[in-house]
Amino acid sequence: MVYEKHDVIVIGAGHAGCEAALACARLGLSTLIFTMSVDNIAMMPCNPNIGGTSKGHLVREVDALGGEMGRNIDRTFIQSRMLNTSKGPAVQSLRAQADKKDYSASMRKVLESTEGLTIRQDEVTEILVEYCSDNHGIKDSENSSELVENSVDNTVDNHVYNDVDNMQIITGVRTVSGNTYPARAVILCTGVYLDSRCIYGEVSVPSGPSGLPRSTHLSDSLRALGLPVRRFKTGTPARIAKSSIDFSKMEEQQGDEHVVPFSFENVGKDMDKDQESCWLTYTNLETHKIIRDNIDRSPLYNGRIEGVGPRYCPSIEDKVMRFAEKERHQVFIEPEGRYTEEMYISGMSSSLPEDVQYAMYRSVPGLENAVIVRNAYAIEYDCIDALCLKHTLECKDIKGFYSAGQANGSSGYEEAAAQGLIAGINAALSLLGKEPLVLDRSDAYIGVLIDDLVTKSTPEPYRMMTSRAEYRLLLRQDNADLRLADYGHRVGLLSDERYEDVCYKRSLIASEIERVKTVGVSSSKEVSDFLSGFNSTPVSDGAILFDLIKRPELSYESLAPLDPERPDIRPDIAAQINIEIKYEGYINRQKIQVAAFKKLEEKMIPPTLDYDLVPSLRIEARQKLKAIRPASIGQASRISGVSPADVSILLIYLGRGSN
Ligand SMILES: Cc1cc2nc3c(=O)[nH]c(=O)nc-3n(C[C@H](O)[C@H](O)[C@H](O)COP(=O)(O)OP(=O)(O)OC[C@H]3O[C@@H](n4cnc5c(N)ncnc54)[C@H](O)[C@@H]3O)c2cc1C
Repeated sequence: MVYEKHDVIVIGAGHAGCEAALACARLGLSTLIFTMSVDNIAMMPCNPNIGGTSKGHLVREVDALGGEMGRNIDRTFIQSRMLNTSKGPAVQSLRAQADKKDYSASMRKVLESTEGLTIRQDEVTEILVEYCSDNHGIKDSENSSELVENSVDNTVDNHVYNDVDNMQIITGVRTVSGNTYPARAVILCTGVYLDSRCIYGEVSVPSGPSGLPRSTHLSDSLRALGLPVRRFKTGTPARIAKSSIDFSKMEEQQGDEHVVPFSFENVGKDMDKDQESCWLTYTNLETHKIIRDNIDRSPLYNGRIEGVGPRYCPSIEDKVMRFAEKERHQVFIEPEGRYTEEMYISGMSSSLPEDVQYAMYRSVPGLENAVIVRNAYAIEYDCIDALCLKHTLECKDIKGFYSAGQANGSSGYEEAAAQGLIAGINAALSLLGKEPLVLDRSDAYIGVLIDDLVTKSTPEPYRMMTSRAEYRLLLRQDNADLRLADYGHRVGLLSDERYEDVCYKRSLIASEIERVKTVGVSSSKEVSDFLSGFNSTPVSDGAILFDLIKRPELSYESLAPLDPERPDIRPDIAAQINIEIKYEGYINRQKIQVAAFKKLEEKMIPPTLDYDLVPSLRIEARQKLKAIRPASIGQASRISGVSPADVSILLIYLGRGSN
């Protein structure tokens, strides 16, 4: 039975699904978003914060493109801090503690008030496709497995990738009630719910996070379509009642006095409000002994957990076992929200048995009388290997089928939101017959994230880190709008008003940098006194303001008194001018590297290239290239197992030669 017809269906209303659905609806497409629980839209099942190093960059980039996460956390934060302020601008990053319930309710309100967007609580059990082969026209959908067997043998990791001639085309989804919902594009954003299992100690429950129902059929449908499904795992710490915590034994961490907003839309607005505190304490040798003495009862170490966990978000068991030399590990006590007593014990996620959890948490200073509200647990779930996706996050073998978020093997609200936005934008652009949006590694952290997932794959839940971005000095969180507003406006998500503001900002930055190159500063006594106020050496023969700004102890802002002609400049613009001048040398060097990178990125490879015809390619490289079908020489060069020699051979073969 068909009750509703939509252009786009989004499966999942988590951080990926919300961005995807909003993008499609805001670009004028009729969009239906499914979730297993409408009361838990944009739920934060783990850490109660948005942002942090590199993740804050992603949120700013989502906002600069016209996404929602930045605005939503600005509406619902209960503490905000700019991290790494003592370090360079490339690693400074915003992190805000969210009121989890407010965050979810606020995002739900945005979805419910978006025209063309319909929310439905139901379980999607099957992805529906039809088959087309260039010379045989449409094939019926029932015998999907037959198609897979016929396809040419392009195998990597025993997975079969169909060749371009045998395309499947998305037609919709079916739900647990048997109803079908036709659509021209479907976006998979199922997070940690596919055949998920929650485990701690001997307890193993087939459920989604926080006791919500899991998705039980969809994994099989994905396998039947020939998609590479695998099992990952992540974990969360216990939640402890605030009244049972002795904060006098901890170090208080307060929010910033003046809050910097995540959304560029809120720059210049007064964001200050009463903030909640977080608290810092540490594990100790007693904690570590309790864990070691019970490590055989840890499902992680006794094999009861199959899924692969995140190396960069380790459980406390992993930390104690892997870093045995460390006498203590940081533990941050974070409020879950103003509506609850629950405190999140960051740094101590675990799947140890309940009795061990009590012992280990109560061994931590300040938690001696801890009352556990929710146990720590690990969750195993199915996700796909994103090697089967293009940079648009469309599936290479199923036209109109996209995937985003944890379903692609990433971990984190921010990583999910970034992918959801790109998948939503590209599903919409494709249906509108417009050029896709592909951000590369020199454009954005989002470009790094997606390229890593679809080119290199990930053996474990992938979380973003600044070290992953080669061009991180250019990809700062403070200039995300300058880097991405053109794209956001081109696709139609960024308002004219915001775009004009970015254009104004960009031109003022450029003109100011040129102007201060012409501003002379005299060697007068007043100037010398002024400079010595900053422990800066006087200028004996005068100087150019531009050069003074480069001095570490001075800045564009602090030199304003020596620059009477300076126009009225907003603080965020002044900050940009300062960074561009101070880091001019590094920035120019990185721009040269980007030019070389772009040269290879722009060398496109025909999607139908038959790698069997390319002479003298090494076997491993040929196999990887056939399976992944890179879009460009640049992408080919990043595939593990493809050597520079293989790339040269490819270049020559493609008649562009290595010169
Ligand atoms: C226990 C736990 C610990 C975590 N630990 C960390 C961590 O330490 N660090 C970190 O960065 N991240 C962690 N996360 C991950 C973080 O929660 C996710 O990265 C993030 O929520 C992913 O967002 P998403 O939109 O991809 O999916 P989710 O937020 O999981 O949302 C998935 C959505 O899909 C819906 N859905 C699923 N299947 C179906 C179906 N068949 N039909 C209809 N709707 C469906 C669900 O109802 C939900 O709305 C943890 C998550 C959990 C549960």
